Amino acid sequence: MDIQKIRGDFPIFERRINGKPIVYFDSAATTQKPRQVIDTLSNYYANHCANIHRGVHTLSQESSELYEEARRTVARFINADEREIVFVRNTTEAINLVSTCLKGEGQILSTVTEHHSNLLPWGRSRKVDYVDIDAQGRIDVADLKEKLLKPTLLVAVTHVSNVLGLVNPVEEVIAEARKNGALTLVDAAQSAPHMEIDVKAMGCDFLVFSGHKMLAPSGIGVLYVREELYERMEPYLMGGSTIKEAHLGSYVPEEPPTCYEAGTPNIEGAIALASAIDYLNDIGMDNVLAHDKALMALALERMKAIDNVELYGSLDPTDRLSVITFNVKGMGCHGVAKVLNLRENIMIRSGFHCAQPLHDRLGIGPTARMSFYIYNTPEEIELAAELLGKIAEFM
Ligand code: PMP
Repeated sequence: MDIQKIRGDFPIFERRINGKPIVYFDSAATTQKPRQVIDTLSNYYANHCANIHRGVHTLSQESSELYEEARRTVARFINADEREIVFVRNTTEAINLVSTCLKGEGQILSTVTEHHSNLLPWGRSRKVDYVDIDAQGRIDVADLKEKLLKPTLLVAVTHVSNVLGLVNPVEEVIAEARKNGALTLVDAAQSAPHMEIDVKAMGCDFLVFSGHKMLAPSGIGVLYVREELYERMEPYLMGGSTIKEAHLGSYVPEEPPTCYEAGTPNIEGAIALASAIDYLNDIGMDNVLAHDKALMALALERMKAIDNVELYGSLDPTDRLSVITFNVKGMGCHGVAKVLNLRENIMIRSGFHCAQPLHDRLGIGPTARMSFYIYNTPEEIELAAELLGKIAEFM
């Protein structure tokens, strides 16, 4: 993997702030975009812009074909069928769609490591229980087994925690859920950008992720629905695209997945997501994963060596992916983030990362979070570790 070549594809890294380059360590929040994705967007607007599915004219036909081709690209990316891919705005909307539309009785099991987007939607109209974590922060499968003794409709679990970076044993969780007749939803917001996902091998019923965390624009996300599950779902939003025919007081519903994409969708976003997937596939997801793992190993080694820095989660780099969460003793996380930004344009995140219950469970306040992606280099990690060392020493 040629990182300098990859960096050359991202116009933002040409920018200088106070004469210095940007060290972008906030990819878990959103990633930067390569020229190829930006070009796909502007090419769509310049040459193909038209509404889809409704017109017989050339531009509408082209736009529809590009949109449906994007669906096929996404389907191949996670080894699904194109009928199983619903385009949504983001992970949050995908989870809200399932929590609103899925019929059936029984509790929902979520876990204490979840992002708020995989907690709050479930609690709106259903009884939810929360599976605990083990000492490393991983889902406690023994606790899951016990909680599954009660009738359970669905287990909603994150593949990779956006706070601890831990890769959860989703296959085991899915197998346990299956044994007990429960469905599963995997939040792949932090895993799909970094590793190969095969929904068939995984065996999940629903899987969700956001384009903006994997080089694509914001406003486009993916909901995978195992095809048989459509029969157990009610309509979501209603209106244009959701019906085959409508009369005053009656309608004939459209087939899935289109019936879940009411109104004009984010056509250009879907097409640009396909372009982002092409970009990642050209690198190879195995190479993306290997690069992330190498950066993680280096970052953990450097951070562990700094006195006064407290790290959260497993310290074994093989357990985790892309995200390191920490605090400098004696200094608030927002202060740490500000100093890194001010001194070296090192951009990290600070706060609860939309996972406050996990912070509560760990008995900690807000934290600082560095997250890496394909364009980050070992030199950037060395720079951040050196500056953090100075900050920690000063404290
Ligand atoms: N789940 C996880 C694990 C996440 O990291 C995020 C984004 N921080 C979300 C869900 C929500 O994603 P979005 O804001 O794109 O809906």
